[in-house]
Formats: sequence, C-alpha cells, structure tokens
Amino acid sequence: MQIYSAPIRDMQFVLYELHDAAGLTALDSFSEVSRDLVDPVLAAAAKFSSQILQPLNLSGDQQGCKLTASAVSTPDGFKQAYQQFCQGGWTAFCCDPEYGGMGMPKSIHSMVEEMFCSANLSFGMYPGLSFGAYHALHSFASQQIKDKYLAKLVDGSFSGTMCLTEPQCGTDLGLCRTQAIPCEDGSYLITGNKIFISAGEHDLSENIIHLVLARTPESPAGIKGISLFVVPKLLDDEQGQASLANNVLCTSIEQKMGIKASATCSMSFEQSRGWLVGELNKGMQGMFAMMNRARLAVGVQGLGLSEVAYQAATAYAKERLQGRSLAGAKYPEQAADPIIVHPDVRRMLLTMRAYTQGCRAYGAWVSQEYDYSNHHPDKKRRQAADEFVQLSTPIVKSLFTDLGFECTNLGMQVLGGHGYIHESGLEQYVRDCRITQIYEGTNGIQALDLIGRKLPYQAGRYLRRFFHPVQEYIEANIEDPEQAEFVQPLAKAFSRLQQATGRLAQVGLSDPEQAAAVASEYLRLFGLVALAFMWCRMTKIAVAKVNDDTTGFYAAKLTTGRFYMQKILPQSSALFASIMVGGEVLMALDEEQF
Ligand SMILES: Cc1cc2nc3c(=O)[nH]c(=O)nc-3n(C[C@H](O)[C@H](O)[C@H](O)COP(=O)(O)OP(=O)(O)OC[C@H]3O[C@@H](n4cnc5c(N)ncnc54)[C@H](O)[C@@H]3O)c2cc1C
Repeated sequence: MQIYSAPIRDMQFVLYELHDAAGLTALDSFSEVSRDLVDPVLAAAAKFSSQILQPLNLSGDQQGCKLTASAVSTPDGFKQAYQQFCQGGWTAFCCDPEYGGMGMPKSIHSMVEEMFCSANLSFGMYPGLSFGAYHALHSFASQQIKDKYLAKLVDGSFSGTMCLTEPQCGTDLGLCRTQAIPCEDGSYLITGNKIFISAGEHDLSENIIHLVLARTPESPAGIKGISLFVVPKLLDDEQGQASLANNVLCTSIEQKMGIKASATCSMSFEQSRGWLVGELNKGMQGMFAMMNRARLAVGVQGLGLSEVAYQAATAYAKERLQGRSLAGAKYPEQAADPIIVHPDVRRMLLTMRAYTQGCRAYGAWVSQEYDYSNHHPDKKRRQAADEFVQLSTPIVKSLFTDLGFECTNLGMQVLGGHGYIHESGLEQYVRDCRITQIYEGTNGIQALDLIGRKLPYQAGRYLRRFFHPVQEYIEANIEDPEQAEFVQPLAKAFSRLQQATGRLAQVGLSDPEQAAAVASEYLRLFGLVALAFMWCRMTKIAVAKVNDDTTGFYAAKLTTGRFYMQKILPQSSALFASIMVGGEVLMALDEEQF
C-alpha cells in the first residue's frame, strides 16, 4: 500500500522560518504572493497529489504505456488526471502571465513539484518536460514562435519534449547527427533519429512540441555546430488548427526498470518542418537554459521519492511487530514490539529523515535564489543569486538523487521482505528513483561540471556565494554554547571542504585527470557540508522555539539535527582523506587488465 501525506508543516517551516519568504513578497513580481495565498496553494497541491495522482501510481507502474502503430497510450486514469491537472492551473503555475501563466515563484513551485513527484513521478514527467520546453522557448525563441506556442504549453493543451539523445550521442552531444536543411521560407527540414525521449508520444495533449538538437549542413563539427529547433508533431491546417502530420513518428517505446508510466520513446524525424530557436550554432545555449532548470527539477524528484519512502517506512515500522526492545518490552500486552523500537530500524528512518529535511531546506534556498536571480530589482543582487544557483545546480541534481536512491533503498530495507514485493509499493520507489541519477547529465558528469566549470569560474567567484555565508555563520555562532554541538562539527567539515577545494584548484590546473578522479567524492563532501549548514540554521531556530512548542515539531528537529551531526557528517572525514590521496591509482590499471 502506498501512502502519501504532503509534509506541509516542514515546507512551511522551510519557507517562512528558515528562509526569507517576506523577501520574495517584497519583489514587484511577487507582491501578491503572501502566506494567505501560498498556504491554500500548498494545501490544494497536497490534495491533488494524494487524491488524484497517488492512486494512479501503482496501477500506472503495472500497466505501463502501450504503443500501437505510432500512437502511445498512457495508463488508465492518466488522461483524466492530466485534464484535471490543466484545469487546476498547475501547468501554468510559474509561467509568465503574459501567456496565461500564474507567475508564481520558483520557490513555491519546487514545493509543489516535490509533492507531485512523491505522489506519481511518472505522471510528473509529462508536465515537467513541457515546462522545460516552455522555459527554453520563453528564453530564446523569436516573438513569433512564442506567440504560437507558449500559451498552449501554459494551458497544457500542448506538451513539450527535449530531444537530445541519439544512439551514438549521449553525454557527448557534439556527436549529434540529426540534420537540419534550411528552406527558403526560413524554416528547416529536420531528419534524424532520437532515442530515450521522455513524453515523445502520448495521448494526453492535442499536440507535442519537440525541442530538437540538430546541425545544419555547413555547421562546424562538434558542439559548436549544434542548433536548437522547435518541431511540432502536428502543423497547422488552413484554419490554423494543429492537425497536419509533420512526419514525427514514435517508432518504439522502451521496456525499462522504472517510471514505467512515463513513455520513453524512440523518435524518427523525416523531413519534419522545424524552426530555429535562438541563434544558429548556439543551440547548446538554449539547451543549457532548459537543462539547468531541469537539473534542479530532477533533484526535486529525488527529494520527493525520499519523502514518500520515508513516510511508508515510518508507518510500517510503527505497525510491524517483531522481536522485543533490547531495553525491555515496550508493549508487553502485544505478541511483540513494533520494529521502530530497534536501534537499527531507527538508524534507517533517521538517516532518511535527516537527508530528506536537509535537502528540502537546501533546495528551497537554491530555488529562492533562483527567484532573486530573475526578479530582484538590483542587478548586483540578481548576479549574486545567479552565481549561487549556478554553483548549486550540479550539487542539487547529484546529491538529491543519490540520496533519493539511498533513502528509497533504506525504506525498502525497513519493510524487510515485504518491501521487495511489488504490492508494498516500496520497490517501485527504488526503481523509479534510479533513473534520476542518470538522466539530465549523469551524476558523474554533474561532479565534473562542479569541479571543471563552477569551481574555477573567475577564480572562485561562484564558490564564494556559498563559502562566505557559511564562514559568517560559523564566526557568528561558534561561541554560542547552545549551538556548539551543531556549529563545531560544521566548522570542522567546512575546514575539510576548504582544504579539499584548495587541493583541487591546485591539481586541476596541472593535471585535470587527477582532479576528475576525485570529483564525485568532492561533490558529496560539498553536499554534506551544505546540508550541515542547513541543519545548523534549522536547529538554531528550533532551540529558540522548542520550549514554547507543544507539537513536538522543534524537539524532533533538534534530535534529527543531532543525528545528522553525530552520525552522518563524520562521513566527510573519509571523503576528505580519499580526496587528498588523489586518484592516481584509478589510472594505474591497463585497459587490458580490467
Ligand atoms: C528513462 C530515460 C529517460 C530519458 N529522457 C530523455 C529525454 O527526455 N531527452 C533526451 O534527450 N534524453 C533522455 N534520456 C537520455 C539520458 O539523458 C542519457 O541516457 C544520459 O544523458 C546518458 O547518456 P548515455 O545513456 O548515452 O550514456 P553515456 O554518455 O554513454 O555514458 C555512459 C557512462 O559513461 C560516463 N561518461 C560519459 N562521458 C563521460 C566523460 N566525459 N567523463 C566521465 N564519464 C563519462 C557516464 O557518466 C556514464 O556513467 C533518457 C534516458 C532514460 C533512460
């Protein structure tokens, strides 16, 4: 049985107590986004998630998608849920009001996205991809293209995709072979095969707007010759209705490990009519804009699955009776105690809890800065916020999804053999979560992005957006006896991160291969410190409020924060040791010796 109840209280804590929701309301764009508006929105998203999306999750996984001719049908109930999703305005949530959007902040959208991902990740993929397409068109397309497609993407009658991957071209997009031949009327004829295209074909929307990477005949080789095109599944007829086939065909759908209700399609484009988005040969610019936003969204997918797995595991641990507490029977009137009395089960539950709440706090910080980067009136503040988001994007994507997989796996372990059985729903979360570590740039590639692009940028300019607030916090709180148990471990781990960063900066210049060899460990160390910073700030609030609180919320925050500092953060020492040793040994084995 899958259960889900949106963690509204924790979301409110993060929005209103930890971060500066009032700062957002002070911006012109969000002057009406007060708590009176946001709380009912969160409640409505919670209701939609648990009442409409969650009940379709297990059945969607069982049925999967089906391909007949070149049409793809989604599982029972998806079409109706999608209509309700559009009618509820969720496709329009943080889109531009000029095109019918609601103009809500990203920081609220991330909370809503988390709920949808917890309830039904496969379903969430369809609007998620559409929003990515909307974002790329909104940022880079000509006014004509915007006028043609944005309102329809916003109201959900059209959906979108990102078509990057080809059989020979995955991580290395410079290997893209899809051709775009220019026509006299300014359009292009697109020919090529794309694979693994999420939502490439389905029965939810009237039309599908593909954003396709392709190269024109005279373009330079590699990544510098890639352009971005918008290619609709259906072209307009004489009445302006999208009804004419554009030779965009789904040739097969993948049988895969998880997200089975999300159609993963092989797509064939055969002289399909498309239009350039942005400048010729600058396609990666548009694609990166879309991918950066999408990477944050994939991080939220990991977070959403951690939360729902935690809830299922906790409910089970309170009910399942096995063995007796080692401290003496807790429920002598029952045949056995519930497994939540056992320290090892608590280790698993607390690990999930500490990671999930820590990630939610960090993710909300990043998405609030994302809002500032787009909407703050002060240019310098916008730039500072953007630098922080740039730095954090690979960390959010990689850390949240790696931890998502760890948490869903722990959730399954809490259920024992029952967790391994399909009916429990837990094994679906593990399977669904696994892809999040792979798509939108594998987590290994995120780590390379962090050390190769983000750290060296303008001699550590991005880095300072994180290092300075942490340093300032430590200096301001290190003498506070009530904070010592939290701030001292943070200070130690932060010092390790600083030393590791110095080492990487040194090695990266002379021997990039050596730096790359420790990139994933460095990203994890960075992520652990980021969560430790969040836990310090959260426990500081909890210390101040715990005595007046009768709900137990702040007391639980303090204990979870303690657990994080005592039982999780020490991993930073091992990571530090491994980073400082370097990665020579990785390259020591000859290829034939493998
Ligand atoms: C379910 C699903 C949905 C997807 N949805 C979409 C979609 O909507 N649109 C789309 O375009 N694509 C989509 N993809 C494709 C996905 O983004 C790619 O699979 C992913 O980017 C990795 O590419 P690849 O599979 O070719 O692996 P490869 O690039 O072949 O990588 C294989 C391994 O080598 C590592 N590697 C590769 N290059 C390097 C390097 N330079 N340095 C270090 N390590 C390296 C990788 O990290 C990985 O571990 C989807 C895939 C799946 C399975």
